[in-house]
Amino acid sequence: MNEQNIYIVRCGEVALKGTNKPYFERVLVERVKKSLKDIENATVKRLEGLIYVRTDKLTPEIDVIRRVSKVFGVASISPAIECESNLESLCKVAVEYMNEFMEGNRPKTFKIKSKRADKNFPTKSPEIAKIIGECVLEGCKDLKVDVHNPECVLFVDVRHDKSYIYQDKIKGFGGLPVGTNGKGLVLFSGGIDSPVAAFMMAKRGMTIEAVHYHSYPYTSQRAQEKVEELVRIISQYCGDVKLHVVNLLPIQEQIVENCPEDQTTLLVRRFMMRIAEKIAKDNECMMLITGENLGQVASQTAEALVVTDETVKLPVMRPLIGMDKIDIMDMAHEIETYETSILPYEDCCTVFLPKHPLTRPRSFQMVNSESKLDVEKLVSDAVQSAETVHIKE
Ligand code: ATP
Ligand code: MG
Repeated sequence: MNEQNIYIVRCGEVALKGTNKPYFERVLVERVKKSLKDIENATVKRLEGLIYVRTDKLTPEIDVIRRVSKVFGVASISPAIECESNLESLCKVAVEYMNEFMEGNRPKTFKIKSKRADKNFPTKSPEIAKIIGECVLEGCKDLKVDVHNPECVLFVDVRHDKSYIYQDKIKGFGGLPVGTNGKGLVLFSGGIDSPVAAFMMAKRGMTIEAVHYHSYPYTSQRAQEKVEELVRIISQYCGDVKLHVVNLLPIQEQIVENCPEDQTTLLVRRFMMRIAEKIAKDNECMMLITGENLGQVASQTAEALVVTDETVKLPVMRPLIGMDKIDIMDMAHEIETYETSILPYEDCCTVFLPKHPLTRPRSFQMVNSESKLDVEKLVSDAVQSAETVHIKE
């Protein structure tokens, strides 16, 4: 068997890119390399539309799979065995591979699926499958062929230089490699939704920065640590994240003191957007991203979203807008943010929660209330007081 562990990584949507394909593939290779940066001696190479990862034998498979499958742009990954591109080697390696596999898994039935990427290879795919299948039957005791419902499928990929035998195709998240589609600023709370929103935009290739608002000392240091932990989890998918942290308390106090109680949340949200827009512009982010979802809470009715949007010129992306909460929660489980998101720490939005929030706000009401505040100064003071935390992937 091979002296190194080898993995075949398949590109998803990247493969469909026309003349831009080499660019997307190059970025994807860089992202895969980065995901393996602390695995010594790992190499990553692109060849004929596939990416080949090699590590030494001591590196656990699970470790490589876990990292690479989180890279956006990766459709699937397979630990594989490499051999010479001739039937003799293919048969020999297939039998060795199956015998080794059977020790742990004891399948009773199998089938071979073969693919001939090298069309100059003299034997056609169905014939390759037949020949290797016969060798496996002969070389592996107690194993039978079942072409309809096999317990184990052995893939044989015959290529020009070398060929590959593998069994698993572990699904990646697909999408496009981060770095191929601009930069956005996520309004990142400690809740369930905004980490999922960040994930979804990064999955389309967007580089992510984040802004988090707190109301210290009403919100605790633990609440902020929770947010940093969430950003760290997200950074496994989207790479390093610059997190801007802003204390919203001075603004909240002004609002509570000067404006109608039922508008508090909406007015606070309008400030969140304004501050985010300024931070976005200072950091070359071209859009804002939120975890808002139509009708989920009082501040996310259609009318509420309209008066929230009015405060900014940058486009606001709301990737969760039409999803059901239950589906968002499923995604949060899948991307491993859920358990952290539900830790019971305070959020700045809950600090001055009105008893009966306005659900059908009108613009003029907001403008009227804000006329009692020095909006510009409050925003620029907040931006100036922002602290930055660099979260490394
Ligand atoms: P989440 O689970 O993301 O907290 P939510 O259902 O609790 O969402 P809201 O609290 O109304 O909804 O917030 C809606 C969106 O506003 C969030 O998804 C996020 O983008 C932004 N947001 C809310 N609170 C904060 C905060 N403290 N800091 C930064 N952004 C926030
Ligand atoms: Mg929230």
